[in-house]
Amino acid sequence: MTKSPVRKLRNYIDGEWVNPPAVEWLDVENPSTTETIAQVPLCGKSETEAAISAAKSAFTDWAMAPADHRTAPLFRLRELLVRYREEISRLIAEEMGKSVPDARAEMQRAVENVEAACGMPILQQGDKLLNAAAGIDGEVLRLPVGVFAMIPPFNFPGMVPFWFLPYALATGNTYIVKPSEQVPCTLQRITELIDNCGFPRGVFNLVNGAREVVETLIESPDVSGISFVGSSRVAKIVAEGCARTGKRCQAMGSAKNHLVVMPDAKIDQVVRNLITSGYGCAGQRCMASSVIVGVGAETCRRVTENFVEASRRVIVADPLDPKVADESIVVGPVISAAAKQRIEALIETGVKEGATLALDGRGVKVAGREKGYFIGPTVLADVKPGMEVHRTEIFGPVQSVMQAEDLDDAIAIVNGHQYGNGASIYTQNGWYAREFKLKAKAGMIGVNIGIPAPVAFLPFGGMKGSQFADIKAQGKSVVRFFTEEKIVTERYWPEK
Ligand code: NAD
Repeated sequence: MTKSPVRKLRNYIDGEWVNPPAVEWLDVENPSTTETIAQVPLCGKSETEAAISAAKSAFTDWAMAPADHRTAPLFRLRELLVRYREEISRLIAEEMGKSVPDARAEMQRAVENVEAACGMPILQQGDKLLNAAAGIDGEVLRLPVGVFAMIPPFNFPGMVPFWFLPYALATGNTYIVKPSEQVPCTLQRITELIDNCGFPRGVFNLVNGAREVVETLIESPDVSGISFVGSSRVAKIVAEGCARTGKRCQAMGSAKNHLVVMPDAKIDQVVRNLITSGYGCAGQRCMASSVIVGVGAETCRRVTENFVEASRRVIVADPLDPKVADESIVVGPVISAAAKQRIEALIETGVKEGATLALDGRGVKVAGREKGYFIGPTVLADVKPGMEVHRTEIFGPVQSVMQAEDLDDAIAIVNGHQYGNGASIYTQNGWYAREFKLKAKAGMIGVNIGIPAPVAFLPFGGMKGSQFADIKAQGKSVVRFFTEEKIVTERYWPEK
Protein backbone atom coordinates (compact mmCIF):
# COMPACT_ATOMS: atom_id res chain seq x y z
CA MET A 1 0.00 0.00 0.00
CA THR A 2 1.38 3.43 -0.88
CA LYS A 3 1.81 5.81 2.02
CA SER A 4 -0.28 8.99 1.78
CA PRO A 5 1.86 12.10 1.38
CA VAL A 6 2.59 14.12 4.51
CA ARG A 7 0.23 17.08 4.93
CA LYS A 8 1.83 20.41 4.07
CA LEU A 9 0.71 23.36 6.17
CA ARG A 10 -0.35 26.66 4.63
CA ASN A 11 -0.43 30.33 5.50
CA TYR A 12 -3.63 32.33 5.91
CA ILE A 13 -3.24 35.80 4.49
CA ASP A 14 -5.91 38.38 3.62
CA GLY A 15 -8.72 35.89 4.20
CA GLU A 16 -7.26 33.24 1.87
CA TRP A 17 -5.35 30.01 2.44
CA VAL A 18 -2.04 30.37 0.62
CA ASN A 19 0.36 27.65 -0.44
CA PRO A 20 3.75 29.18 0.25
CA PRO A 21 6.06 29.41 -2.76
CA ALA A 22 9.22 27.31 -2.83
CA VAL A 23 10.56 27.61 0.69
CA GLU A 24 12.37 25.30 3.06
CA TRP A 25 10.06 22.77 4.79
CA LEU A 26 10.49 21.38 8.29
CA ASP A 27 9.10 18.04 9.46
CA VAL A 28 6.67 18.26 12.39
CA GLU A 29 7.13 15.21 14.59
CA ASN A 30 4.90 13.41 17.04
CA PRO A 31 7.42 13.30 19.93
CA SER A 32 5.94 10.05 21.31
CA THR A 33 6.46 8.11 18.08
CA THR A 34 8.90 10.37 16.13
CA GLU A 35 6.60 9.99 13.10
CA THR A 36 6.31 12.99 10.81
CA ILE A 37 2.74 14.28 11.07
CA ALA A 38 3.04 17.34 8.83
CA GLN A 39 5.50 19.63 7.14
CA VAL A 40 5.65 23.31 7.99
CA PRO A 41 6.97 25.96 5.60
CA LEU A 42 9.77 28.13 6.98
CA CYS A 43 8.58 31.32 5.33
CA GLY A 44 10.64 34.41 4.82
CA LYS A 45 10.42 38.11 4.21
CA SER A 46 8.03 38.15 1.24
CA GLU A 47 5.30 36.00 2.87
CA THR A 48 5.59 38.00 6.10
CA GLU A 49 5.39 41.30 4.24
CA ALA A 50 2.28 40.06 2.41
CA ALA A 51 0.61 39.39 5.78
CA ILE A 52 1.69 42.78 7.15
CA SER A 53 0.33 44.51 4.07
CA ALA A 54 -3.03 42.68 4.35
CA ALA A 55 -3.30 43.53 8.05
CA LYS A 56 -2.40 47.15 7.37
CA SER A 57 -5.06 47.50 4.64
CA ALA A 58 -7.70 45.95 6.89
CA PHE A 59 -6.92 48.17 9.87
CA THR A 60 -8.74 51.41 8.98
CA ASP A 61 -12.19 49.83 8.56
CA TRP A 62 -11.77 47.34 11.40
CA ALA A 63 -10.65 50.06 13.82
CA MET A 64 -13.82 52.04 13.02
CA ALA A 65 -16.20 49.03 13.14
CA PRO A 66 -18.78 49.31 15.94
CA ALA A 67 -17.71 47.60 19.14
CA ASP A 68 -20.34 44.85 18.91
CA HIS A 69 -19.37 44.11 15.28
CA ARG A 70 -15.81 43.48 16.48
CA THR A 71 -16.92 41.05 19.19
CA ALA A 72 -19.58 39.21 17.12
CA PRO A 73 -16.98 36.97 15.35
CA LEU A 74 -15.43 36.20 18.76
CA PHE A 75 -18.75 34.89 20.06
CA ARG A 76 -18.80 32.55 17.02
CA LEU A 77 -15.16 31.58 17.63
CA ARG A 78 -16.01 30.71 21.23
CA GLU A 79 -18.75 28.34 20.03
CA LEU A 80 -16.42 26.68 17.52
CA LEU A 81 -13.59 26.29 20.04
CA VAL A 82 -16.01 24.60 22.44
CA ARG A 83 -17.43 22.38 19.68
CA TYR A 84 -13.98 21.24 18.48
CA ARG A 85 -12.20 21.31 21.84
CA GLU A 86 -11.74 17.54 22.03
CA GLU A 87 -10.34 17.29 18.50
CA ILE A 88 -7.92 20.19 19.11
CA SER A 89 -6.89 18.78 22.50
CA ARG A 90 -5.94 15.49 20.84
CA LEU A 91 -4.00 17.39 18.20
CA ILE A 92 -2.07 19.19 20.95
CA ALA A 93 -1.35 15.85 22.65
CA GLU A 94 -0.15 14.47 19.32
CA GLU A 95 2.19 17.25 18.28
CA MET A 96 3.30 18.56 21.69
CA GLY A 97 3.15 15.43 23.85
CA LYS A 98 1.15 16.64 26.86
CA SER A 99 -1.66 14.56 28.34
CA VAL A 100 -5.15 14.90 26.88
CA PRO A 101 -6.59 16.28 30.18
CA ASP A 102 -3.78 18.88 30.22
CA ALA A 103 -4.60 19.80 26.62
CA ARG A 104 -8.31 20.09 27.45
CA ALA A 105 -7.43 22.46 30.31
CA GLU A 106 -5.26 24.44 27.89
CA MET A 107 -8.17 24.84 25.46
CA GLN A 108 -10.49 25.75 28.31
CA ARG A 109 -8.21 28.68 29.15
CA ALA A 110 -8.21 29.70 25.47
CA VAL A 111 -12.02 29.73 25.53
CA GLU A 112 -12.01 31.78 28.75
CA ASN A 113 -9.80 34.38 27.11
CA VAL A 114 -12.20 34.70 24.16
CA GLU A 115 -15.05 35.12 26.63
CA ALA A 116 -13.15 37.83 28.52
CA ALA A 117 -12.42 39.68 25.26
CA CYS A 118 -16.12 39.56 24.34
CA GLY A 119 -16.54 42.11 27.15
CA MET A 120 -14.52 44.66 25.16
CA PRO A 121 -17.43 47.08 24.64
CA ILE A 122 -17.15 47.65 28.40
CA LEU A 123 -13.40 47.08 28.89
CA GLN A 124 -12.41 49.57 26.20
CA GLN A 125 -14.57 52.41 27.45
CA GLY A 126 -12.76 55.68 28.01
CA ASP A 127 -13.16 58.27 30.74
CA LYS A 128 -14.64 61.73 30.80
CA LEU A 129 -14.07 64.48 33.32
CA LEU A 130 -16.64 67.27 33.14
CA ASN A 131 -15.27 70.67 34.13
CA ALA A 132 -11.63 69.66 34.12
CA ALA A 133 -11.27 73.46 34.19
CA ALA A 134 -14.04 76.07 34.16
CA GLY A 135 -16.31 75.18 31.21
CA ILE A 136 -13.70 72.78 29.80
CA ASP A 137 -14.19 69.01 29.64
CA GLY A 138 -11.45 66.39 29.49
CA GLU A 139 -11.97 63.07 27.73
CA VAL A 140 -9.78 59.96 27.47
CA LEU A 141 -10.32 57.83 24.37
CA ARG A 142 -8.90 54.29 24.13
CA LEU A 143 -8.11 53.80 20.47
CA PRO A 144 -6.81 50.80 18.55
CA VAL A 145 -3.22 51.19 17.43
CA GLY A 146 -2.58 49.25 14.21
CA VAL A 147 -1.04 45.90 13.20
CA PHE A 148 0.09 43.63 16.04
CA ALA A 149 1.90 40.27 15.90
CA MET A 150 2.27 37.30 18.24
CA ILE A 151 5.12 34.82 18.53
CA PRO A 152 4.27 31.85 20.79
CA PRO A 153 6.43 29.05 22.26
CA PHE A 154 5.98 25.33 21.69
CA ASN A 155 4.54 24.33 25.05
CA PHE A 156 1.02 25.84 24.83
CA PRO A 157 0.19 26.00 21.11
CA GLY A 158 -3.55 26.39 21.74
CA MET A 159 -3.56 28.73 24.74
CA VAL A 160 -0.71 31.24 24.65
CA PRO A 161 -1.87 32.98 21.42
CA PHE A 162 -5.23 33.49 23.14
CA TRP A 163 -3.63 35.55 25.93
CA PHE A 164 -3.43 38.23 23.27
CA LEU A 165 -5.25 37.66 19.98
CA PRO A 166 -8.92 37.97 21.05
CA TYR A 167 -8.12 41.21 22.90
CA ALA A 168 -6.15 42.62 19.94
CA LEU A 169 -9.02 41.91 17.55
CA ALA A 170 -11.79 43.09 19.88
CA THR A 171 -10.04 46.42 20.48
CA GLY A 172 -9.94 47.06 16.70
CA ASN A 173 -6.37 46.08 15.81
CA THR A 174 -5.41 43.65 13.07
CA TYR A 175 -3.27 40.62 13.75
CA ILE A 176 -0.57 38.24 12.58
CA VAL A 177 0.42 35.03 14.38
CA LYS A 178 3.54 33.01 13.66
CA PRO A 179 3.12 29.61 15.36
CA SER A 180 6.04 27.76 16.91
CA GLU A 181 7.52 25.75 14.04
CA GLN A 182 7.73 22.77 16.42
CA VAL A 183 3.92 22.61 16.95
CA PRO A 184 2.22 24.46 14.07
CA CYS A 185 -0.71 22.07 13.49
CA THR A 186 -2.83 23.35 16.40
CA LEU A 187 -2.95 26.93 15.16
CA GLN A 188 -3.51 25.72 11.60
CA ARG A 189 -6.69 24.00 12.83
CA ILE A 190 -7.74 26.98 14.97
CA THR A 191 -7.24 29.27 11.97
CA GLU A 192 -9.67 27.06 10.00
CA LEU A 193 -12.20 27.90 12.72
CA ILE A 194 -11.30 31.61 12.66
CA ASP A 195 -11.85 31.54 8.88
CA ASN A 196 -15.51 30.65 9.56
CA CYS A 197 -16.21 33.36 12.12
CA GLY A 198 -16.89 36.31 9.82
CA PHE A 199 -13.82 38.48 10.38
CA PRO A 200 -13.23 40.78 7.39
CA ARG A 201 -10.30 39.86 5.13
CA GLY A 202 -6.87 40.72 6.50
CA VAL A 203 -8.00 41.22 10.10
CA PHE A 204 -6.39 37.92 11.16
CA ASN A 205 -3.38 36.36 9.39
CA LEU A 206 -1.21 33.30 9.99
CA VAL A 207 2.37 33.01 8.72
CA ASN A 208 4.38 29.87 9.39
CA GLY A 209 8.11 29.99 9.94
CA ALA A 210 10.81 30.72 12.44
CA ARG A 211 13.44 33.40 12.97
CA GLU A 212 13.15 35.16 9.59
CA VAL A 213 9.44 35.85 10.07
CA VAL A 214 10.14 37.32 13.52
CA GLU A 215 12.96 39.49 12.20
CA THR A 216 10.75 40.81 9.39
CA LEU A 217 7.98 41.65 11.87
CA ILE A 218 10.44 43.49 14.12
CA GLU A 219 11.95 45.51 11.26
CA SER A 220 8.65 46.46 9.61
CA PRO A 221 7.55 50.08 10.17
CA ASP A 222 3.97 48.89 9.60
CA VAL A 223 3.87 46.67 12.70
CA SER A 224 2.90 48.62 15.83
CA GLY A 225 3.59 46.00 18.46
CA ILE A 226 4.67 42.42 19.21
CA SER A 227 3.70 39.99 21.96
CA PHE A 228 6.37 37.33 22.42
CA VAL A 229 6.32 34.31 24.73
CA GLY A 230 9.28 31.93 24.81
CA SER A 231 12.80 31.69 26.21
CA SER A 232 14.38 34.73 27.86
CA ARG A 233 17.20 34.55 25.31
CA VAL A 234 14.83 35.25 22.43
CA ALA A 235 12.52 37.49 24.54
CA LYS A 236 15.48 39.84 25.01
CA ILE A 237 16.23 39.87 21.27
CA VAL A 238 12.59 40.71 20.51
CA ALA A 239 12.38 43.37 23.26
CA GLU A 240 15.60 45.03 22.08
CA GLY A 241 14.42 44.95 18.45
CA CYS A 242 11.08 46.50 19.38
CA ALA A 243 12.76 49.22 21.44
CA ARG A 244 15.07 50.02 18.51
CA THR A 245 12.23 50.17 16.00
CA GLY A 246 9.79 52.02 18.30
CA LYS A 247 7.25 49.24 18.79
CA ARG A 248 5.10 48.26 21.69
CA CYS A 249 6.37 45.00 23.14
CA GLN A 250 5.42 42.29 25.57
CA ALA A 251 8.21 39.73 25.88
CA MET A 252 7.68 36.95 28.38
CA GLY A 253 10.56 34.60 28.98
CA SER A 254 11.93 31.65 30.90
CA ALA A 255 11.13 30.51 34.41
CA LYS A 256 12.46 28.64 37.42
CA ASN A 257 9.62 28.39 39.87
CA HIS A 258 10.36 27.77 43.55
CA LEU A 259 7.76 26.07 45.74
CA VAL A 260 8.52 26.66 49.42
CA VAL A 261 7.31 24.09 51.95
CA MET A 262 7.02 25.36 55.54
CA PRO A 263 7.23 22.98 58.53
CA ASP A 264 3.47 23.38 59.20
CA ALA A 265 2.42 22.48 55.63
CA LYS A 266 0.03 19.55 55.04
CA ILE A 267 2.61 17.19 53.55
CA ASP A 268 0.21 14.73 51.84
CA GLN A 269 -1.69 17.47 50.01
CA VAL A 270 1.58 19.28 49.25
CA VAL A 271 3.16 16.22 47.64
CA ARG A 272 0.07 15.54 45.48
CA ASN A 273 0.21 19.17 44.39
CA LEU A 274 3.97 19.08 43.71
CA ILE A 275 3.58 16.00 41.50
CA THR A 276 1.00 17.70 39.27
CA SER A 277 2.96 20.93 39.19
CA GLY A 278 6.34 19.37 38.47
CA TYR A 279 5.49 16.60 36.04
CA GLY A 280 2.40 17.80 34.14
CA CYS A 281 3.35 18.59 30.55
CA ALA A 282 6.63 16.73 31.34
CA GLY A 283 7.74 19.83 33.24
CA GLN A 284 7.51 21.95 30.10
CA ARG A 285 5.32 24.66 31.60
CA CYS A 286 6.45 28.17 32.42
CA MET A 287 4.47 27.77 35.67
CA ALA A 288 5.80 24.30 36.52
CA SER A 289 7.42 23.62 39.85
CA SER A 290 11.13 23.35 39.29
CA VAL A 291 12.65 23.78 42.74
CA ILE A 292 11.15 22.48 45.99
CA VAL A 293 12.51 24.42 48.96
CA GLY A 294 12.03 22.62 52.26
CA VAL A 295 12.30 24.91 55.30
CA GLY A 296 14.30 23.19 58.03
CA ALA A 297 16.12 19.84 57.85
CA GLU A 298 13.14 17.78 59.01
CA THR A 299 10.69 19.32 56.49
CA CYS A 300 13.23 18.88 53.73
CA ARG A 301 13.77 15.22 54.61
CA ARG A 302 10.02 14.47 54.83
CA VAL A 303 9.11 16.25 51.63
CA THR A 304 12.00 14.66 49.70
CA GLU A 305 11.13 11.13 50.84
CA ASN A 306 7.42 11.49 50.15
CA PHE A 307 7.96 13.25 46.85
CA VAL A 308 10.46 10.68 45.55
CA GLU A 309 8.10 7.88 46.55
CA ALA A 310 5.15 9.51 44.78
CA SER A 311 7.32 10.30 41.73
CA ARG A 312 8.11 6.59 41.28
CA ARG A 313 4.37 5.93 40.75
CA VAL A 314 3.88 8.54 38.00
CA ILE A 315 2.97 7.00 34.63
CA VAL A 316 5.27 7.69 31.69
CA ALA A 317 3.45 7.04 28.40
CA ASP A 318 2.30 8.21 25.01
CA PRO A 319 -0.56 10.54 26.03
CA LEU A 320 -2.71 9.15 23.19
CA ASP A 321 -2.41 5.58 24.44
CA PRO A 322 -6.10 4.79 25.16
CA LYS A 323 -5.11 3.06 28.41
CA VAL A 324 -3.85 6.35 29.91
CA ALA A 325 -5.62 8.98 27.82
CA ASP A 326 -7.86 10.13 30.69
CA GLU A 327 -5.33 9.82 33.54
CA SER A 328 -4.91 13.18 35.22
CA ILE A 329 -1.14 12.87 35.45
CA VAL A 330 0.85 11.27 32.65
CA VAL A 331 4.39 12.22 31.77
CA GLY A 332 4.53 12.29 28.00
CA PRO A 333 7.62 12.87 25.90
CA VAL A 334 9.62 16.09 25.87
CA ILE A 335 9.32 18.04 22.66
CA SER A 336 12.34 16.87 20.63
CA ALA A 337 15.50 14.80 20.48
CA ALA A 338 17.50 17.99 21.13
CA ALA A 339 15.43 18.79 24.25
CA LYS A 340 15.90 15.24 25.58
CA GLN A 341 19.65 15.44 25.07
CA ARG A 342 19.86 18.87 26.75
CA ILE A 343 17.80 17.80 29.79
CA GLU A 344 19.76 14.56 30.25
CA ALA A 345 23.04 16.48 30.03
CA LEU A 346 21.78 18.88 32.73
CA ILE A 347 20.94 15.93 35.02
CA GLU A 348 24.52 14.74 34.58
CA THR A 349 25.80 18.24 35.35
CA GLY A 350 23.78 18.26 38.58
CA VAL A 351 25.38 15.01 39.66
CA LYS A 352 28.87 16.36 38.85
CA GLU A 353 28.08 19.52 40.85
CA GLY A 354 27.36 17.41 43.94
CA ALA A 355 23.56 17.05 43.89
CA THR A 356 22.15 13.69 45.02
CA LEU A 357 20.31 11.87 42.25
CA ALA A 358 17.39 10.65 44.37
CA LEU A 359 15.47 9.42 41.31
CA ASP A 360 16.85 9.02 37.79
CA GLY A 361 14.36 9.10 34.91
CA ARG A 362 16.95 8.69 32.17
CA GLY A 363 16.72 5.51 30.18
CA VAL A 364 13.00 5.04 30.79
CA LYS A 365 11.39 2.86 28.09
CA VAL A 366 7.80 3.07 26.95
CA ALA A 367 6.69 -0.20 25.33
CA GLY A 368 5.89 0.27 21.65
CA ARG A 369 7.26 3.82 21.76
CA GLU A 370 10.96 3.04 22.07
CA LYS A 371 11.99 5.89 19.78
CA GLY A 372 9.95 8.54 21.66
CA TYR A 373 11.62 11.38 23.55
CA PHE A 374 10.70 10.18 27.04
CA ILE A 375 12.39 11.05 30.32
CA GLY A 376 10.89 9.76 33.54
CA PRO A 377 10.43 11.77 36.74
CA THR A 378 13.83 12.79 38.08
CA VAL A 379 14.73 14.27 41.47
CA LEU A 380 17.98 16.03 42.31
CA ALA A 381 18.28 16.52 46.08
CA ASP A 382 20.84 18.61 48.01
CA VAL A 383 20.91 21.28 45.31
CA LYS A 384 22.60 24.52 46.37
CA PRO A 385 22.17 28.09 45.05
CA GLY A 386 24.72 28.80 42.32
CA MET A 387 24.78 25.26 40.90
CA GLU A 388 24.07 25.23 37.18
CA VAL A 389 21.02 22.99 37.73
CA HIS A 390 19.65 25.76 39.94
CA ARG A 391 20.60 28.71 37.72
CA THR A 392 19.28 27.17 34.49
CA GLU A 393 15.71 26.48 33.41
CA ILE A 394 15.70 22.70 32.78
CA PHE A 395 12.20 22.56 31.23
CA GLY A 396 11.75 18.84 31.69
CA PRO A 397 10.41 16.41 34.34
CA VAL A 398 13.29 17.19 36.70
CA GLN A 399 12.80 18.58 40.20
CA SER A 400 15.53 20.04 42.38
CA VAL A 401 15.19 19.98 46.15
CA MET A 402 16.91 22.61 48.29
CA GLN A 403 16.96 23.26 52.00
CA ALA A 404 16.40 26.67 53.60
CA GLU A 405 17.04 27.55 57.24
CA ASP A 406 13.88 29.62 57.69
CA LEU A 407 11.34 31.65 55.73
CA ASP A 408 13.71 34.59 55.18
CA ASP A 409 16.35 32.22 53.82
CA ALA A 410 13.74 30.63 51.49
CA ILE A 411 12.66 34.06 50.21
CA ALA A 412 16.33 34.96 49.69
CA ILE A 413 16.74 31.83 47.49
CA VAL A 414 13.67 32.83 45.43
CA ASN A 415 14.78 36.44 45.12
CA GLY A 416 18.40 35.61 44.32
CA HIS A 417 17.34 33.78 41.18
CA GLN A 418 17.52 35.41 37.76
CA TYR A 419 13.94 34.37 36.91
CA GLY A 420 10.73 35.30 38.72
CA ASN A 421 7.72 33.92 36.91
CA GLY A 422 5.83 32.02 39.63
CA ALA A 423 6.54 31.11 43.26
CA SER A 424 4.43 29.32 45.85
CA ILE A 425 4.39 28.75 49.57
CA TYR A 426 2.75 25.86 51.40
CA THR A 427 1.72 26.79 54.91
CA GLN A 428 -1.30 27.01 57.18
CA ASN A 429 0.12 30.16 58.79
CA GLY A 430 -1.28 33.47 57.52
CA TRP A 431 1.74 35.47 58.63
CA TYR A 432 4.18 33.29 56.67
CA ALA A 433 1.89 33.52 53.66
CA ARG A 434 1.62 37.30 53.90
CA GLU A 435 5.40 37.73 54.23
CA PHE A 436 5.88 35.55 51.17
CA LYS A 437 3.21 37.31 49.08
CA LEU A 438 4.76 40.69 49.78
CA LYS A 439 8.47 39.85 49.65
CA ALA A 440 8.92 37.07 47.05
CA LYS A 441 10.03 38.56 43.72
CA ALA A 442 7.85 36.63 41.28
CA GLY A 443 5.00 37.90 39.14
CA MET A 444 2.53 35.17 40.12
CA ILE A 445 2.32 33.89 43.70
CA GLY A 446 0.58 30.77 44.95
CA VAL A 447 -0.46 30.05 48.52
CA ASN A 448 -1.04 26.30 48.80
CA ILE A 449 -1.38 26.29 44.98
CA GLY A 450 1.21 24.44 42.87
CA ILE A 451 0.55 26.13 39.55
CA PRO A 452 -0.55 29.67 40.34
CA ALA A 453 -1.48 30.47 36.71
CA PRO A 454 -4.16 33.17 36.89
CA VAL A 455 -7.50 32.74 35.12
CA ALA A 456 -8.20 34.79 31.98
CA PHE A 457 -9.87 37.63 33.87
CA LEU A 458 -6.62 38.42 35.72
CA PRO A 459 -3.20 39.44 34.37
CA PHE A 460 -0.52 36.83 33.62
CA GLY A 461 3.19 37.57 33.69
CA GLY A 462 6.46 37.39 35.58
CA MET A 463 9.16 39.63 37.03
CA LYS A 464 12.96 39.94 36.72
CA GLY A 465 14.45 37.96 33.81
CA SER A 466 11.10 36.26 33.12
CA GLN A 467 9.54 39.35 31.57
CA PHE A 468 11.03 42.09 29.40
CA ALA A 469 8.06 44.44 29.37
CA ASP A 470 5.82 46.03 31.91
CA ILE A 471 2.39 45.09 30.57
CA LYS A 472 1.24 41.57 31.35
CA ALA A 473 -0.98 39.26 29.27
CA GLN A 474 -4.73 38.66 29.64
CA GLY A 475 -7.52 40.56 31.34
CA LYS A 476 -7.62 44.32 31.73
CA SER A 477 -3.80 44.65 31.53
CA VAL A 478 -3.63 43.56 27.94
CA VAL A 479 -6.35 46.04 26.92
CA ARG A 480 -3.83 48.79 27.75
CA PHE A 481 -1.27 47.16 25.47
CA PHE A 482 -3.66 47.10 22.54
CA THR A 483 -5.04 50.61 22.96
CA GLU A 484 -3.56 54.05 22.79
CA GLU A 485 -4.94 56.78 24.99
CA LYS A 486 -5.85 60.05 23.33
CA ILE A 487 -6.83 62.88 25.63
CA VAL A 488 -9.25 65.47 24.33
CA THR A 489 -9.66 68.82 26.08
CA GLU A 490 -12.67 70.72 24.74
CA ARG A 491 -14.90 73.68 25.29
CA TYR A 492 -17.61 75.56 23.40
CA TRP A 493 -18.51 79.23 23.69
CA PRO A 494 -22.11 80.30 24.05
CA GLU A 495 -23.82 81.32 20.78
CA LYS A 496 -24.41 84.82 22.08
P1 NAD B 1 11.96 29.79 22.05
O1 NAD B 1 12.38 31.09 22.62
O2 NAD B 1 12.98 28.87 21.53
O3 NAD B 1 10.93 30.03 20.82
C1 NAD B 1 9.81 30.86 20.97
C2 NAD B 1 9.46 31.46 19.61
O4 NAD B 1 10.55 32.27 19.15
C3 NAD B 1 9.20 30.43 18.53
O5 NAD B 1 8.03 30.81 17.83
C4 NAD B 1 10.45 30.49 17.65
O6 NAD B 1 10.16 30.27 16.29
C5 NAD B 1 10.93 31.92 17.84
N1 NAD B 1 12.40 32.04 17.78
C6 NAD B 1 13.32 31.12 18.19
N2 NAD B 1 14.58 31.61 18.04
C7 NAD B 1 14.44 32.86 17.53
C8 NAD B 1 15.39 33.89 17.17
N3 NAD B 1 16.69 33.72 17.29
N4 NAD B 1 14.89 35.05 16.69
C9 NAD B 1 13.56 35.24 16.56
N5 NAD B 1 12.63 34.30 16.89
C10 NAD B 1 13.07 33.13 17.37
O7 NAD B 1 11.04 29.09 23.18
P2 NAD B 1 10.40 27.63 23.16
O8 NAD B 1 11.47 26.62 23.35
O9 NAD B 1 9.47 27.48 22.02
O10 NAD B 1 9.49 27.69 24.47
C11 NAD B 1 9.94 27.37 25.75
C12 NAD B 1 10.27 28.60 26.56
O11 NAD B 1 9.12 29.44 26.66
C13 NAD B 1 10.66 28.29 27.99
O12 NAD B 1 11.76 29.09 28.34
C14 NAD B 1 9.43 28.71 28.81
O13 NAD B 1 9.69 29.09 30.15
C15 NAD B 1 8.96 29.87 28.01
N6 NAD B 1 7.56 30.17 28.27
C16 NAD B 1 7.30 31.29 29.01
C17 NAD B 1 6.00 31.62 29.32
C18 NAD B 1 5.71 32.84 30.17
O14 NAD B 1 4.55 33.17 30.37
N7 NAD B 1 6.73 33.53 30.67
C19 NAD B 1 4.94 30.83 28.85
C20 NAD B 1 5.23 29.69 28.08
C21 NAD B 1 6.57 29.38 27.79
